[in-house]
Amino acid sequence: MSLIVQKYGGSSVADAEGVKRVARRIVQTKQAGHDVCVVVSAMGDSTDDLIDLANKVSPAPPARELDMLLTAGERISMAVLAMAIADLGMEARSFTGSQAGVITDADHGKARILDVTPGRITQALEAGHIAIVAGFQGVSQTTKDITTLGRGGSDTTAAALAAALRADVCEIYTDVDGVFTADPRILPSARKLDVVSCEEMLDLAASGSKILHLRCVEYARRYGIPLHVRSSWSKHPGTFIVDNPYDEGSGMEAPIITGIAHDVSEAKITVVGVPDEKGKAADIFTAVADAGISIDMIVQNVSVAATGLTDISFTLPQSDGPKAIQVLQAVKTTIGFADMLYDDKIGKMSVIGAGMRTNPGISAKLFRAMADADINIEMISTSEIRVSVVTRADQLEAAVRAAHTAFGLDSTEGEAIVYGGTGR
Ligand code: ASP
Ligand code: MG
Repeated sequence: MSLIVQKYGGSSVADAEGVKRVARRIVQTKQAGHDVCVVVSAMGDSTDDLIDLANKVSPAPPARELDMLLTAGERISMAVLAMAIADLGMEARSFTGSQAGVITDADHGKARILDVTPGRITQALEAGHIAIVAGFQGVSQTTKDITTLGRGGSDTTAAALAAALRADVCEIYTDVDGVFTADPRILPSARKLDVVSCEEMLDLAASGSKILHLRCVEYARRYGIPLHVRSSWSKHPGTFIVDNPYDEGSGMEAPIITGIAHDVSEAKITVVGVPDEKGKAADIFTAVADAGISIDMIVQNVSVAATGLTDISFTLPQSDGPKAIQVLQAVKTTIGFADMLYDDKIGKMSVIGAGMRTNPGISAKLFRAMADADINIEMISTSEIRVSVVTRADQLEAAVRAAHTAFGLDSTEGEAIVYGGTGR
């Protein structure tokens, strides 16, 4: 007998039928003799609907109240799921994040988990009940206010609970059969991966792949919890995410390219005519950092000798764009740059693979594939196991297709199945 944490995403519990289907699956796991702790997301697109509602009431809803509103989505799904399980003759107990002991900092909208004290969950499991926990939420250690963990944060709730409960595995149920070489929603020829290393999964999640929340992978890695990403519609084995799958003796070689992530949520700011003097980059990025904005890629051109001026471009989340422009405007004269350009029609593609370390020529091959597909690359950044390029947003899907084919990732076993979800 083992302790299994199962997380069901919003598309898996989108309607009453979905809730009942998931309830049957949970009951089967329990009947197989396992202890089961379930983490559930809000039904379907209801988090987006709640955000739309808030924005209709107020253009800038207070962060505390927005969190209070959004956590209602998960409370609905945990309660109806417990009802559906009761209807199958099993005892289930639902708990809010706060009741489950998910303690966070006070950073509304993107709170970090500081501690998990799952006393009530342990009690419920010991009593033979199925415990159901509302994902994506916690309670602040200092203010005692209700917080949310950021979009997609139920994955992180699941991994954090799995760590605190010392679960044997954390199963993430979604609307596709696992982690694919690219998003099957835009690329039906994407191939399902059996195993991905934590290192690669962290880079995929950080580069825009929405299959797993970044901090979920960080948690699983830190506490050695295996993650199993799979579909709630099928019984197919999904993708295992483990720390060192390519270790000597495993018989597995690190693939050169494991997967491709794409992201259309970023924008590009170009600071034009920056004096090419020491301290200017520091001044620009200090202003942005002080506003609490995380940036991603940075490109600084060589200065034009005649003018002694240079341009600096960087990417950041679109949602932080207006604020960044505002803080840079405020320091424009002191830093002495000429102008700013804002562009939110960009897309970023990242190709990731642990085998890149030992295989030269990956960038050259990627750039050639982009050229052959008539796609202009606007920015480039690389790490040991990743190459990212920025293109026009409307060319991004073509870029993913071209790279996928160039690196031989296309499936030979038919099209990937997307079982549910609206892709919103
Ligand atoms: N319901 C939340 C969201 O849509 C959390 C989650 O689904 O993981 O972002
Ligand atoms: Mg998700």
